Amino acid sequence: MSSESVKVVVRCRPMNVREKILNCKMVVSVEMSGCQCFIKKPGTKEEPPKQFTFDGAYFIDQTTEQMYNEIAYPLVEGVTEGYNGTIFAYGQTGSGKSFTMQGVSEPAAQRGVIPRAFEHIFESIQCAENTKFLVRASYLEIYNEEIRDLLGNDTKQKMELKEHPERGVYVRDLSLHTVHSVAECERIMEQGWGNRSVGYTLMNKDSSRSHSIFTIHLEICSTDATGEDHLRAGKLNLVDLAGSERQSKTGATGERLREATKINLSLSALGNVISALVDGRSKHIPYRDSKLTRLLQDSLGGNTRTLMVACLSPADNNYEESLSTLRYANRAKSIQNRPRINEDPKDALLREYQEEIKQLRALISSQLSNGNLSSLLAGQLTVGPSSDLSRPLSSTTEEEKEKIKEEYEVKLAKLQAEYNAEQESNAKLQEDIAVLRSSFENKLSSLKKTRASRGHSTTNAGSENILIKQAIEEESFFMHVFCSQLEQQVVGGEQARNKELQQRHQQRKTLADQRKKQLIQALAENHEESDNVMLNVYDSIQDEVRAKSRLLENTQGKLKAAKLEIRDLQMEFELERNDYLATIRRLEMEGKLLQSLLERVIPLVRRDCNYSNLDRLRKEAIWDEDSASWSLPEVVVQKTTLPSVAPSAQNLSVRRSSAAATGEFLQDEEDRYKEMLNRSDSENFSSNYFKLKRAHQLLGSEPMKGLGKTWSYRRITRSYMPFTSPDNKGERSVNQENTYCI
Ligand code: ADP
Ligand code: MG
Repeated sequence: MSSESVKVVVRCRPMNVREKILNCKMVVSVEMSGCQCFIKKPGTKEEPPKQFTFDGAYFIDQTTEQMYNEIAYPLVEGVTEGYNGTIFAYGQTGSGKSFTMQGVSEPAAQRGVIPRAFEHIFESIQCAENTKFLVRASYLEIYNEEIRDLLGNDTKQKMELKEHPERGVYVRDLSLHTVHSVAECERIMEQGWGNRSVGYTLMNKDSSRSHSIFTIHLEICSTDATGEDHLRAGKLNLVDLAGSERQSKTGATGERLREATKINLSLSALGNVISALVDGRSKHIPYRDSKLTRLLQDSLGGNTRTLMVACLSPADNNYEESLSTLRYANRAKSIQNRPRINEDPKDALLREYQEEIKQLRALISSQLSNGNLSSLLAGQLTVGPSSDLSRPLSSTTEEEKEKIKEEYEVKLAKLQAEYNAEQESNAKLQEDIAVLRSSFENKLSSLKKTRASRGHSTTNAGSENILIKQAIEEESFFMHVFCSQLEQQVVGGEQARNKELQQRHQQRKTLADQRKKQLIQALAENHEESDNVMLNVYDSIQDEVRAKSRLLENTQGKLKAAKLEIRDLQMEFELERNDYLATIRRLEMEGKLLQSLLERVIPLVRRDCNYSNLDRLRKEAIWDEDSASWSLPEVVVQKTTLPSVAPSAQNLSVRRSSAAATGEFLQDEEDRYKEMLNRSDSENFSSNYFKLKRAHQLLGSEPMKGLGKTWSYRRITRSYMPFTSPDNKGERSVNQENTYCI
């Protein structure tokens, strides 16, 4: 399996009104043919601009159409062949991520990558010969490390991530919507886009604080020359990431800052995954550190073809963020993926559909064949031998049959219309069909029951057979309907004879291929230039000196740039470290607050409850990776039974009742204890109580009045008694129980 690197392009947007008003300077420039991007540090005259080379570089005037055709087209085309593909937009808030992914409808050349991918996929589907496709779409959002289904019934509900040995990481219960056309896809995209969580920061009023992933799931069934079917599946993830800016710059506070921290956490995790993949030495790739990296796991170092669009602002006041984006992108291009076609997917819905269609077809043809019908009826005839199949149907039965058929047709037409209008989900359609089918089956079984209840009378056998025949015909009719409904779920080959469309499709493919070749050549030339200087044969010494001096100058320039880069990187690490330290400090403060609260609260928890023992709870708590939460033990209040005295038959019953009584006593004590804690500290009743008692006892004065029991006195005096005391044993056993009570 050959590997290929993640493709990375940069796109720099024009200055916005705010930047123009602030009189910002342009610090980014692009050299398209060489796929190079330059960024100049503001206020430094002699420092050369930093230079980056990518798989494509687009400046302020370039359109999404151009970018798509040159770089995204082959990736999306691959999805229609059964590869997985991911396109994600990275950059600070306001840099043009959504503009690139979602786009605008006017001018048409700036329509986004997502609607273009719809168009492209449906064009390929319609041109495909002998191939059928099932197209479904899903749209999710990761907001505050929580996943939400943007197309679900409840867009606020948190979804869970799951891992399956074959399917990989997936979102449990995420809604998948069958789509049949570009218009439907666009409607779904708009619907989900409207459900995104929107935040307001200084950077961009309308920007979203969330990551969103629009996924087009394809199932492909192609029939070969021998008539054999081959199944494949392709998935296209279109990811619009949240802003990559450092939290300090956004002016976010409170809840917004919390969001920003989590967003950066996800993006830091993405950065760490990229670093670990590029590093080569790391064995552990920290995919599990965030929801985003878990979901994009296949796209980074996996079996997916990946394209990153790094979006930039050209203005000098965004220099640091733009540079950080360029560095991020520069690292990402070294990631190696191993794209492969997903053949014979185990969970393909298309396979289920096809099998069901085949079965239905077989059933229909067998049921409608006369032989079968006769044999079925012959079975009935053994019961009613005088029936006459050839007898014409009575006009009333005929009318009834027509009526029922009409009724169903009306229902069906309504259902169809509703379905066309909504096209909401495949699940809904399945449900409707199931309802229709079960209503039909009910009718059929009630018919059979009626017949059975009439006993084995032979008089009406003729009309019974007519009813059965009618039922069989109706069943076939419904199976036809069900079958065609299933067939409508799939698309493909509608324009297979449209020469013009085929040609256009082919042209776009050729253009993308040509562009790829140009890119490879441009990149190769960059490398060759320096090699040639050393290897060339020169006409004169002067020529050679000139060429080699130029090379030396170039190399010295590069050395200087590298030194500056090291300095800048160190400064940037420092900034990042400060950010992390600030986060750690904040988390520490939060932790200390919780610890202090716990210390106050724990003594209030009754001691027979397992939540009074914090250390034990800590040991029993289990971290759940999937839900990213602690699962804690149940709250249990355990009634303590007393330790047993030396078992003897005669005191067993006494002990039992005493234990029960003590249990109640304990309960009372516990409540009394709580009550006491509720009182103010100055009324430290318990310590005063015991102090007094000890004084009395030491002075040998009378035991405390009011206790009404000798046990407390005895217990206290016990330690002063000689061990040889004659009733020592009995006393101790009493004392043991009483000691427990105290
Ligand atoms: P992000 O999603 O990165 O926060 P947006 O895509 O919302 O940023 O872009 C911010 C603003 O800049 C929008 O008003 C958008 O129309 C404009 N913009 C972004 N990229 C371009 C571009 N290449 N050409 C013209 N306008 C752009
Ligand atoms: Mg956006």
